Amino acid sequence: MSITEAIIRVRERMENACVRSGRSCAEVRLCAVSKFHGVSAVEEAYDAGQRLFGENRVQEASDKFTGFKTARPGTHVHLIGSLQRNKAKAAVRLFDCIQSIDRDALIDELGKLMQERNGSPALAVLLEMHTAENSKSGFPDTDALCRAAEKVLSYPAIRLSGLMTMAPFTDDEKAIRRAFKTVVSARTMLEARFPGHWECLSMGMSNDFEIAIEEGATLIRIGTAIFGSRAA
Ligand SMILES: *Cc1c(COP(=O)(O)O)cnc(C)c1O
Repeated sequence: MSITEAIIRVRERMENACVRSGRSCAEVRLCAVSKFHGVSAVEEAYDAGQRLFGENRVQEASDKFTGFKTARPGTHVHLIGSLQRNKAKAAVRLFDCIQSIDRDALIDELGKLMQERNGSPALAVLLEMHTAENSKSGFPDTDALCRAAEKVLSYPAIRLSGLMTMAPFTDDEKAIRRAFKTVVSARTMLEARFPGHWECLSMGMSNDFEIAIEEGATLIRIGTAIFGSRAA
């Protein structure tokens, strides 16, 4: 299957999941995860109408997208992998959103870097919530998320936009659903405490995006189902 066909297929499955769960298709955005795939793959996706891309490494993303973003208007790139402090400066130059905020020190770092870039639009960020035993990243619970939210809100140059999670990698649908439900209820609590900052709920990957949509995802991150498998 070509990338173009794969995008059409993923969009159909998104629509079906929306219909099944009584949601409007306009509520769910698709982020095409292009990590480990080259510029020509990204070009094909762009020509098929895809505008939002996800990458998990700063250097790789920067090599791939710095020129691409200028040449192809409307391209947006989100960081979805963990961000090391020494890459933060390059990250704020490139990314439209950092979905993988997983510790308080990173918020301070980004807040300061964005303050120095005064005049540029605020950087959107999502707080990552830890829900999978087999992964390590993310804030563990709502207390930690509340503290992180307070910290983000103390920096006007970064804009709190919601939550992200990676569900456990498993065939156990119940466990996946449980992970997504945990994030949805965290969001309800956070919305009550800090209203107006949680429109984005980034959850769902190639193997679980339909479940994520049924549970309320507004942004899904799809790599394999669009670009094929990644060389390990
Ligand atoms: C790689 C990655 C994805 C995409 O995974 P697929 O299973 O290939 O769709 C989504 N989110 C994150 C955080 C990733 O690292």
